Parts: sequence; C-alpha cells; structure tokens
Amino acid sequence: MRDWTDILTHLGEHDLPKALPIVPPIVQSSNFAYHSVADFRAAFLQELDHHLYTRGNNPTTDILRQKLAALENAEDALVLSSGSAAIAVSVLGQVQAGDHIICVQKPYAWTYKLLENFLPRFEIETTFVDGRDLAAIEAAYRPETRLLFLESPNSLTYELQDLQACAQWAQQRGVTTIIDNSYCSPIYQNPIDYGIDLVVHSGTKYLGGHSDVVFGAICGKRAMIHRLFESEFMTLGTCLSPNDAWLVLRSLRTLPLRMERCFETTQRVVAQLRQHPKVERIWYPWDDSFEQYELAKQQMRGAGGLFSVQFKADSIEQMEALCNRLSAVFPMAVSWGGHESLQVPTCVFYNMPDREAPPLPYTFVRYYVGLESADYLLKAFEEALHHL
Ligand SMILES: *Cc1c(COP(=O)(O)O)cnc(C)c1O
Repeated sequence: MRDWTDILTHLGEHDLPKALPIVPPIVQSSNFAYHSVADFRAAFLQELDHHLYTRGNNPTTDILRQKLAALENAEDALVLSSGSAAIAVSVLGQVQAGDHIICVQKPYAWTYKLLENFLPRFEIETTFVDGRDLAAIEAAYRPETRLLFLESPNSLTYELQDLQACAQWAQQRGVTTIIDNSYCSPIYQNPIDYGIDLVVHSGTKYLGGHSDVVFGAICGKRAMIHRLFESEFMTLGTCLSPNDAWLVLRSLRTLPLRMERCFETTQRVVAQLRQHPKVERIWYPWDDSFEQYELAKQQMRGAGGLFSVQFKADSIEQMEALCNRLSAVFPMAVSWGGHESLQVPTCVFYNMPDREAPPLPYTFVRYYVGLESADYLLKAFEEALHHL
C-alpha cells in the first residue's frame, strides 16, 4: 500500500491537463519545485525568468507582466500590490542620499508624500515645478538631479507635459524619467514611444476596471526592470497575489471596450454640461476649451472618463446639497476607472478639523464617468442642477 503521507503530499499532482485551459489557471503556490540541481541553480541565477518564489515571480502574475509590457511597448514589466508601491519602488531605484528629484506640481497625493515627507529623511530633495513649462524644469536642474517624475495628465486638473520634449531634455542631462500614466492607461498613451524610461500605473483604475483589485505596474527596458526586481522590488516585498493577477487578466479582455465606452460617454456628457447655465468652467483635456488640447491630441489617443466642473454656487451648503442629490447616480468615493460613475467634491475637504482648506474652490467637483449610458448620467445632472 502507498504510504499515506506520500498520497497526501504528491499523488495526482503531476498529471498536467491534456489540453490547455482557455483561461490560465490561478497558480496559488508560494514556491516551485525543481528536480535537478542545474535547473534549481538556473532559477536562482535569473529569478525573474523562472518561477522560484511568488514574492518574485509566479506563472499567473508572469502572464500579466507580459501583457502589460506589450501594451506599453516596453521590454518588461513588474506587477505590484498597489500603484503607490509601483511609484515608491521605481523612484527608490533611481536615487541615493544627496540626490535631487524634479517632479511636476500637484502629483498624486501619495507620490507627493513620498517625495516631500519620506525621501528627505534619506537626504533626497525634490523640487516641484509647473510641468507645462520646460524652462521651469530646466531652471530646477542641479548637477545632482537624477530623476524627473511626470504625471500627464494629472487626475484632477489634467495638466500635461510635452513627453517628447521632457524625455529629450532628460536624456541630454543624464536624468532618468518616470511617468505616472494611470490617467490614459496604455490604450490612450504610450510614453515609452516618446523616450520616457519607466511607466508606472495604478492598475486599480482602468486596468483592473471593476473596483475590486488594488494593484500597480512598472514598465520599461529589460535592464532597468531587472535592476528594480533584484533590489527594491524583492526587498520591499510588494508582490501581487496570483488571485488578484488572475482577476486583472480577466479585466484586460475588455480594457479597450471599457476605455472607448468611457471616452465616448464622457465627451457627450461634457459637451452637454458645458452649455448649462449653472456651470462656470469645465476641465477636460479632450475639449477645445482646454488650454493644452493641441498637445493632448498630439501625444494621446483619447482621454477616458475623468473630468472636473466648477459650478455657479454661492455657498458650501448649496454645493453639499447638489452633491448629495447627485449621489444616487454619482456616489461619492475615491478612486476611479471602474464600472461605476463617481464624484469627489472639493467641498468635502472644507470645514475639516485640523486641516487647511484645499487650493481648489468648494464649487469644484471631480467626476468619473463609468459604463452607464450618457442619457442616464445627463438626466441625473439635469435633475440635480435644477435645484441649484
Ligand atoms: C490611484 C492613483 C495612484 C495610486 O494607486 P494605488 O493603486 O491606489 O496605490 C497613483 N497615481 C494616480 C494618478 C492615481 O490615480
């Protein structure tokens, strides 16, 4: 009789499927077995090309890495447990004590915290500049500048940077470039085509697309990705679980469809809203009223579902009433890129204890347009604005 411990440990586990499954399996295993010392050694020598340990690489996350690299016209990619992890790992990989970073003004909040609060503890300084102006970037340059961090467009007021001009400037200065490309997703912008070194994503947004996974990605040249893998990525241990990677693989099947839908609906909603007498101003990069529209058309293929509005309201109370009324169709929530429309009203940040009022007026609201129909969303605006 077979030893029962052998039954429990090995029996039946090596019969691979006779036909490949249409959907890749979730390989929920922390480690991977080898049966020759030579193969085991090879896995240690080039861990990113093998499956050795899931903090490093795993068959399910590996498929996601390949797809994201290809979508960004990059040679390789890493997937991580959040967009913020992707930003932290990619930035930490470029700098050491005494170095200087140039970053665009008003980057994503946790990018700002990393650069403004965290890195100074290790004697790394950051200058924040208006990224619309290459002269401002040049003016901030120092001999110890190592990194130019871009975010184009940003996800609140949508300022762009000229990616080709920034990449050329940085190459001449020997400065590495990183861009947060979450706003466009790889469907609407590929910064590597313009010479940017590393592209990071909050995959929580469009790539995941269903508001159920938090994840991030770093895409770039193979040598840079390998360096990050061997050092910051493996040390900080911010890997993505195989389960979550599998959910994202499923989401990616519909990425272009979802992006196109958000883009089309948003254009219709913006075109209609800008006519409304209660609307003071609209921010949307794919609109001829947007000051960098020409640049947007030059380097982006579309603009997705984020836009912002400033309303004609006379008090915070009026704004709160408007947002509350809209919340049946535009619930108030952070994040974006999922199936559901959302709003982040600036008035929420007013009247907070121990917190300064934000630089934006309380009449400003950031909207995200999900997969609902334009008519349904416009009807909600019409009804809510009727009371303003
Ligand atoms: C959400 C977001 C991030 C952070 O991503 P997480 O997945 O939440 O860690 C970074 N940049 C931008 C532009 C974002 O919108």
